[in-house]
Amino acid sequence: MSLPTVLLKRGRDASLRRRHPWVFSGGIASVRGDPFPGETVEVRAHDGRWLARGAYSPTSQIRVRAWTFDEGQSVDRAFFRRRIEEALAVRSANRQGEREARRLVYSESDGLPGLIVDRYGAHVVVQFLSAGSERWRDVIVRELAEATACEGVYERSDSSGRRLEGLEERTGVLFGVEPPDVVEIEEGGCRLLVDVRAGHKTGFYLDQRQNRALVREQARDADVLNAFSYTGGFGIAALVGGARAVTNVESSGPANELARRNAELNHFGPDRFNVEEGDAFRVLRRFRDEARSFDIVILDPPKFAESAAQVERAARGYKDLNLLAFRLLRPGGLLFTFSCSGHMKPDLFQKIVADGALDAGRDARIVGWLHQAPDHPTALAFPEASYLKGLVVRAT
Ligand code: SAH
Repeated sequence: MSLPTVLLKRGRDASLRRRHPWVFSGGIASVRGDPFPGETVEVRAHDGRWLARGAYSPTSQIRVRAWTFDEGQSVDRAFFRRRIEEALAVRSANRQGEREARRLVYSESDGLPGLIVDRYGAHVVVQFLSAGSERWRDVIVRELAEATACEGVYERSDSSGRRLEGLEERTGVLFGVEPPDVVEIEEGGCRLLVDVRAGHKTGFYLDQRQNRALVREQARDADVLNAFSYTGGFGIAALVGGARAVTNVESSGPANELARRNAELNHFGPDRFNVEEGDAFRVLRRFRDEARSFDIVILDPPKFAESAAQVERAARGYKDLNLLAFRLLRPGGLLFTFSCSGHMKPDLFQKIVADGALDAGRDARIVGWLHQAPDHPTALAFPEASYLKGLVVRAT
């Protein structure tokens, strides 16, 4: 039985030839057959040449996401088993035990567009973010359960991106046992509680794992300001690394509650792990007015730019924050500053941080360039996968 076919306009085949997996609606000349959402389609160039086999998404600007560029490879259960096994295999070499938390599948970068899989100890959390991954959800869940030998698979498809794909937001148990209220994980000597049901993303910012380790290594005897602290990950890492005290700033009440529980779990009292609930812009200004200062400042704000059009406004936000951070840094202090907006390019981010230092009247030098953890890889053909960037800056 032949699959429906998407025929591209003349000259619109270049990106698929470079193995970039997206076909935009504007590049399509015609669709043969009447594919349902998520159905596998053949993609052909204007001259009929076969290009890719992918998932059709009738409501999305990204009309097709390629599953494969190999004409001999069919998209079936065996396909998903193989892709999942490959994703797990490249990450299994550095497994560290039963409380380990890791990203197991990172969407396009693992050849599985629209699928995110994270492991928190015995529990696996999935997000189906495209019509294609949704179409194969039962197969994917069965294969994941088998390949990971997990106790349960929990769905966190409550990302707003689903609406662009014509999908409802959804959460719940898909296999095995319901996860407990909080799952305990271990990261670099820190014990951390993760709310996989209601926490941000799949429960935790796994992408910052290596950067938290870096803070831990630099934190001995330091007074640390951890702005945008979520459940306190950077702060706990700093204390485990011997920091004197950490001040966390975060606007979310539930995140702060979990942060306090995390401190207790690691035997750090409120004298060493303090939480300021509020808007970080305001709290940092107040700290400046109170002439407070820190040896280490961490800035890990949420995505300020959701689209290219928002980059300019985002730039002002980053500039204000970094300027404030430089004002709060003691001589010789370290700033760990991040942007998780993919639209904010590293060059521009660096310029913004430089502007912040200049306006604060501080001399500073970059001593490190930071990225998302390697279990969030970037396929060379899909540079969009790279979103988290950071600088380590030492002020004089
Ligand atoms: N550093 C954290 C992740 C931070 S994500 C970690 O390693 O786990 C960004 C955090 O900023 C979120 O927890 C969000 O609730 C918080 N946030 C968003 N806007 C804020 C604001 N204006 N002031 C303080 N916190 C804010």
